[in-house]
Amino acid sequence: MRSSQYLLSTMKENPADAEVISHKLMLRAGMVRRLASGLYTYLPTGVRTLRKVERIVREEMNKAGAIEVLMPMVQNAELWQETGRWEHMDAELLRFKDRHQRDFVLGPTHEEVITDLIRREVTSYKQLPLNLYQIQTKFRDERRPRFGVMRAREFLMKDAYSFHLTQDSLQQTYDAMYQAYTRIFTRLGLDFRAVIADSGSIGGSVSHEFHVLASSGEDAIAFSTSSDYAANIEMAAALPPSSKRPAASASLQKVATPDANTLEELAACLSLETSHLVKTVLVHAHHDTEDNATKDNSVQLIALVVRADHQLNHVKAEKHPLVASPLTLATDEQIKALLGSATATIGPVGLKVPVIVDHSAAVLADFSCGANEDSHQLVGVNWDRDITDYQQADIRNVVSGDASPCGSGTLEIKRGIEVGHIFQLGDKYSQAMKAGVLNEAGKNQILTMGCYGIGVSRIIAAAIEQNHDEYGIIWPDTIAPFQIALIPMNMHKSTRIQQAAEQLYNELTAAGFEVIFDDRKERPGVMFADMELLGIPHHIVIGERNLDQQQVEYKHRRSGSKEMLDIAQVVAEMT
Ligand code: ATP
Ligand code: MG
Ligand code: MG
Ligand code: MG
Repeated sequence: MRSSQYLLSTMKENPADAEVISHKLMLRAGMVRRLASGLYTYLPTGVRTLRKVERIVREEMNKAGAIEVLMPMVQNAELWQETGRWEHMDAELLRFKDRHQRDFVLGPTHEEVITDLIRREVTSYKQLPLNLYQIQTKFRDERRPRFGVMRAREFLMKDAYSFHLTQDSLQQTYDAMYQAYTRIFTRLGLDFRAVIADSGSIGGSVSHEFHVLASSGEDAIAFSTSSDYAANIEMAAALPPSSKRPAASASLQKVATPDANTLEELAACLSLETSHLVKTVLVHAHHDTEDNATKDNSVQLIALVVRADHQLNHVKAEKHPLVASPLTLATDEQIKALLGSATATIGPVGLKVPVIVDHSAAVLADFSCGANEDSHQLVGVNWDRDITDYQQADIRNVVSGDASPCGSGTLEIKRGIEVGHIFQLGDKYSQAMKAGVLNEAGKNQILTMGCYGIGVSRIIAAAIEQNHDEYGIIWPDTIAPFQIALIPMNMHKSTRIQQAAEQLYNELTAAGFEVIFDDRKERPGVMFADMELLGIPHHIVIGERNLDQQQVEYKHRRSGSKEMLDIAQVVAEMT
């Protein structure tokens, strides 16, 4: 691709309205442009990366035995009425009427449509199991679209749906999908975690989420430092990893009315040892911030939170005695706003502060507190929730992983971006929509289902969150919009350079590389900056002096390392 014939659309300045780095860089690198809230146009560079992500997803889905279909984005309301989701889904479901006053929705997901298809097309057990997927646009009228394509209203999802006669068969496909997701996110070059998850409004029982670890992530995930246990924060709180642990209600009793004025009293109320409380908190502080000063403050904050959680209704707008001044993590105004009014909405400084200890009677104080930017690093934040949500929150049970049977493990909390989610749906949709087949005995049997989503467009933002520096994006090779940037210096003043560049461009392209040939009449500095910003993994620079030696300069974007290559050897070296 010649940049003179391409739409680069790079921007030097940081766009003012972008909060997270991936959003900034996607705008600056000319990948997307905002049309309206949560709606984005993909520019050529954005499309190239999007297609690469799609290709990896598609290849692995095909390999895992899934078959591609394509369903309409517009869906008739009758299907949603059949499953009851027409009434139960909130405003995220965009409903509208056609010219005949018939009700429709813009598909936020496709369980209804696929189940309708299967009940018509599949009649015999011999046709099962079946796993169908699509890569398609979804629409969700998100309450708070933000972070660019990370939480958009219109976005690209890979969604798969599997159909079975038995739970065993469902489990097999579920496991195959789990493995396929692991391969996909590995090939995408992402640092990710699979965690036990709540299946939310989609329904069903068994569920895992795949999270890309990033400090800007909207979700909190908890994982054991000493076992394989990993769960999203809701599940870590609601579902102890071992049934041998005391039930949540048992420890809820114990902590029903803590009225502590010191850390010791607080620990006594919670039937914990102070050392546990402090120790684990310090683990988080240590883990997520290098800053020693944060340690003490985080202890104080958590003490405040535990008390406030129980007495929110009558707590006055005053600091808890435990919160010794100076309190640097939260301003007085923030605490007042938090405790003084049950309806105040916590803005982007809202914090969820968990108290986690390392034995079976552990406690999670699910609460939110104002805090400064730094403390964002501490734990997960749910910026969508307001105080009213937290008022209803219980102190819940959190315990450490199964493989720490003596209770010596520690749960760590990190922030993650949900990029994939797999569910065992059971018969929730097939029952409601009467999707069955004739089984071996000739009897009609309702199907068992699984569903498997990947946020294809969100992956791009997540990948950038993990792969960037002060100069721009650093693409993993597998999803870079171009593999090689060919940068001739002052080509328009030198036929020699032009000839060498043209020849190299032809050779590299013929060898199958995707090359962006920067043939613009720009200063070298501008070209270098643009190609770094775009995150092209390999740069080849052609200059007069090096050409005298029949050489070009090679630069590796990620490591920054440079070397000279003989021009005749470039194609071989790149392969
Ligand atoms: P979230 O918790 O972020 O709202 P979700 O749990 O509602 O996501 P799912 O119903 O599990 O999403 O959809 C499957 C995948 O689609 C998610 O794992 C995520 O990667 C992606 N996704 C969901 N909502 C959005 C969105 N608004 N913008 C971009 N991608 C999204
Ligand atoms: Mg959602
Ligand atoms: Mg989710
Ligand atoms: Mg989900």
